[in-house]
Amino acid sequence: MALAEITARLQQAEQAAGRAAGSVTLIAVSKVQPLERVVAVLEQGHRVFGENYVQEAAAKWPDLRARFGPVQVHMIGPLQTNKARLAVDLFDAIHTVDRPSLAEKLARLAQDRGRSPQLFVQVNTGEEPQKAGVLPADLDGFIATCRAMDLPISGLMCIPPESESADPHFAALAGMASRNGLAGLSMGMSSDFEAAIAAGATHVRVGYAIFGARDYAK
Ligand SMILES: *Cc1c(COP(=O)(O)O)cnc(C)c1O
Repeated sequence: MALAEITARLQQAEQAAGRAAGSVTLIAVSKVQPLERVVAVLEQGHRVFGENYVQEAAAKWPDLRARFGPVQVHMIGPLQTNKARLAVDLFDAIHTVDRPSLAEKLARLAQDRGRSPQLFVQVNTGEEPQKAGVLPADLDGFIATCRAMDLPISGLMCIPPESESADPHFAALAGMASRNGLAGLSMGMSSDFEAAIAAGATHVRVGYAIFGARDYAK
């Protein structure tokens, strides 16, 4: 089945890159997938998932966690500030911190709760106007702003432009993380996760290669 194949390829890529076994977290991106496909992957023992929409995740994961026990769910889609409260209570990690207003809200919630999900800053490495993310030139300042608010940032995330080779974007993101003393690198999807691991990814986000194609028409 697809999960076993992707897990094997991930382990090979870790080894080929001289990375420690288990150093890369496989996030199975379950957005829009029918419930039976998600359950099948849970039944095979996988416990780390990714979602793009707060509402969809809130409708799905409380029941699945009650049924299967602890599951890490990562928010990888754009997060509206007015959904931040729901998000911090639902998700173990948020990969899309991308603006000061959201960072402020997350910092306040973290202070109230005495804990925070693991946080990644999304970087718009391709500087695409329609894409979310902090521009590379603004990144160091944004990280400093987050640190000044006591907001713990553990890494960076990017979604390279579809029409280009992802490699230069992965390398650029790795450089930005290292320059800022950040260990986490969320990069690589179904079509390029091995290249991302070679470039230092700690978290790969794999959807259709595990679950099959998404059907947005429903
Ligand atoms: C949907 C999505 C993925 C998974 O994409 P696939 O091409 O299906 O592997 C990864 N990251 C983000 C941010 C996504 O929105």
